[in-house]
Amino acid sequence: MYVKPKKGLGQHFLIDRNIQNKIITACEFNPSDIVLEIGAGRGELTCQIAKKVKSLYAIELDKDLCTLLKKNLKDYSNTKVIRQDILRFNFQNFLNKIEDKIKVIGNIPYYITTPIIEQLFKYKEKIKDIFITVQEEFAKRMISQPGSRLYGALSCFVQYYSEPEILFKIKKTSFFPKPKIDSSFIRLKFRAYPIMVNDESFLLRIIRTAFNYRRKMLKNSLKDLIPEEKLQQFFIKYNINPSIRAEKLSLKDFINLINFI
Ligand code: SAH
Repeated sequence: MYVKPKKGLGQHFLIDRNIQNKIITACEFNPSDIVLEIGAGRGELTCQIAKKVKSLYAIELDKDLCTLLKKNLKDYSNTKVIRQDILRFNFQNFLNKIEDKIKVIGNIPYYITTPIIEQLFKYKEKIKDIFITVQEEFAKRMISQPGSRLYGALSCFVQYYSEPEILFKIKKTSFFPKPKIDSSFIRLKFRAYPIMVNDESFLLRIIRTAFNYRRKMLKNSLKDLIPEEKLQQFFIKYNINPSIRAEKLSLKDFINLINFI
């Protein structure tokens, strides 16, 4: 059975055996693992994972691929194919039925990388580790620090919840059809000691607003959200230049700011 790749669904199948093996090794699966794979495609990784873990749930949106997946997984009784749009997947329901924390893996469709990560972060109590393939520049943005051109809201958001790590690069030639750019395989490890912040949603709002105007002075970009006087007091207390711009502020600075006001 051959399923023609659908561009609109971000279908780029990982065909490089060496990279497949590298991914399986990097995830350090063990026999007690419960795994959720996002965008399982034709199931090449899926079969390899199934051999190593207790159970595996493979989510795939494409009807034709689901048919193929079920066929390819028929010898693995510890697997279950779920035809679902991951963005509509009821994580709460799914996780309630599972006692252990799960591992999430995916060579995920790039056009929905951010919403998938946002979804997963909501269920951090029930997720052990996230291993995903993302576009190379996206991976670099995740791990960036102030001073880098790639540092921004995404860096702060991801680093607030997790410790992102780029495990290795995957060349575009490892995929079929070949995408336009190279990828990175990354791990998002949830922080063992979450950062304490008074108001998490306000923190994320401040970060987003500040980076919408990354070259504007903070006192201007945040003027609708924080009274100027309060901001001045914060700068004095933390010895920060009052004309600082978002791109120079670290995640720690943003957290201090929220806890201060
Ligand atoms: N894991 C496979 C396929 C990767 S391509 C491999 O490594 O070869 C990405 C896969 O995600 C495709 O199979 C695509 O059909 C699927 N997909 C795209 N949008 C999706 C969505 N919203 N929900 C679930 N799966 C999706």
